[in-house]
Amino acid sequence: MVDVFDVIVVGGGIVGCAVIWEMTSYGYKCLLLEKNENLVSEASSGNSGMLHTGFDAVADTLELQCIQHTFPKMFGVLEGFGLPYNKTGATMVAWTQEQAQIIPTIAQRCRAAGVSFCTEISLSELYSREPGLRKQAQGALWIPGETVVDPWLTAISLAHDAKKKGAMIKTNAVVQNISRTECERQRIQVMTSLGQFTGRVVINCGGLYGDIVDKLAGLQHFRIFPKKGQYAIYPQKVGHHINSSILPIPTSKGKGEIIFKTVYGNVVVGPTFEDSASRARPESDAGTIRRLVRLGESCVPGLEGCPIVNTYTGVRPATETKDYHIDSYPESCWITVGGIRSTGLSGSLGIADNVRRLVLHQHALEPSGPRRTGLERMDIKFVPPCHARIDDVLYTVTHPITLNGVWKSRDSRL
Ligand SMILES: Cc1cc2nc3c(=O)[nH]c(=O)nc-3n(C[C@H](O)[C@H](O)[C@H](O)COP(=O)(O)OP(=O)(O)OC[C@H]3O[C@@H](n4cnc5c(N)ncnc54)[C@H](O)[C@@H]3O)c2cc1C
Repeated sequence: MVDVFDVIVVGGGIVGCAVIWEMTSYGYKCLLLEKNENLVSEASSGNSGMLHTGFDAVADTLELQCIQHTFPKMFGVLEGFGLPYNKTGATMVAWTQEQAQIIPTIAQRCRAAGVSFCTEISLSELYSREPGLRKQAQGALWIPGETVVDPWLTAISLAHDAKKKGAMIKTNAVVQNISRTECERQRIQVMTSLGQFTGRVVINCGGLYGDIVDKLAGLQHFRIFPKKGQYAIYPQKVGHHINSSILPIPTSKGKGEIIFKTVYGNVVVGPTFEDSASRARPESDAGTIRRLVRLGESCVPGLEGCPIVNTYTGVRPATETKDYHIDSYPESCWITVGGIRSTGLSGSLGIADNVRRLVLHQHALEPSGPRRTGLERMDIKFVPPCHARIDDVLYTVTHPITLNGVWKSRDSRL
């Protein structure tokens, strides 16, 4: 007899990990297929590790809805699993008079997004909060709530908990083909490098490769245009120079280059926003890193003369249209979650909640098992040079924030 999964998730980035966790918790029998040797190896292994409040998201969008669903729920998850986080808040700083004039508009947009706690602050309040900033600011906005997490541990813990609750996770499993001939009886065949699997609904969480995975099912609604982001990482010993994430005034390209402190205390400058010829993670380029270092030093003079300890690059799965595609095709036993460009970590649990509702209501698929909610504290030990043991399962750490925070530049406690 063929083993039939209720749900097959393609892709083990933050989105796939959140989706399999949600679906398994609700009693669906789930399988996750990931083409790489390790989960969290593509877009999700090169982000800033920020849990955003949605202060700059456009009002009435799916993206904002997903972020606002995730934000309170994620703290329950982080607390329940015992994962590190730091609610540093963010400070948006105007360095010119021209930029300062935009701050009221941004504050207004914050309120329209329902993030009404953003407040304009005086320069004296700015410098009492952030004494390490260059003394030439012209205006500032305080955004409480913005939080830094360990982006690798957050994603892996969701997948790990799903597995504990009965999900099957297969890595080195490249999805190569799809057969929809039996979709009428809610059966879809997924051919992979590890063999064939049968499910009732497939959720494409292919991230950077989402358009290619969609094509396997004969669908083509968007194309991915990779956008890379580069970072410079400072050691933890300069962490005391900032207290919150220091944001520039945003541009049409997004949030801009941030100076922030990771959950492990490293100061990081980035990310850039650049077109990328490849979906694979490119190396950093020396000229851009020098520019990021100059930016960090010009805003935070205490960074001057401190050598960076590392650099990294991430690649965003951007599309030409909107930021969040969560589309359901019941006739094809298929749901696409694609083009989650800039806020996949911050919107992950909201995306998963939307997917579960689509499975239940549009695909009319009830869970085949009982609900398995409940969050148990995880026993997490980092094992040099690049592993973490979670409840006796060994995982390879793939995110530079974790790698640099735990090992490469530690100068104090864990
Ligand atoms: C520079 C940068 C900074 C960012 N900062 C933040 C931030 O601070 N906060 C925030 O919320 N978001 C941030 N983001 C956005 C966030 O990282 C992304 O939205 C998120 O990683 C997208 O996750 P994903 O799971 O959709 O994609 P991915 O991580 O790309 O995962 C998709 C997975 O699918 C797998 N896959 C693809 N094809 C196949 C196949 N055929 N068979 C099997 N598996 C397959 C891939 O191997 C991959 O593991 C940032 C992104 C970047 C690049």
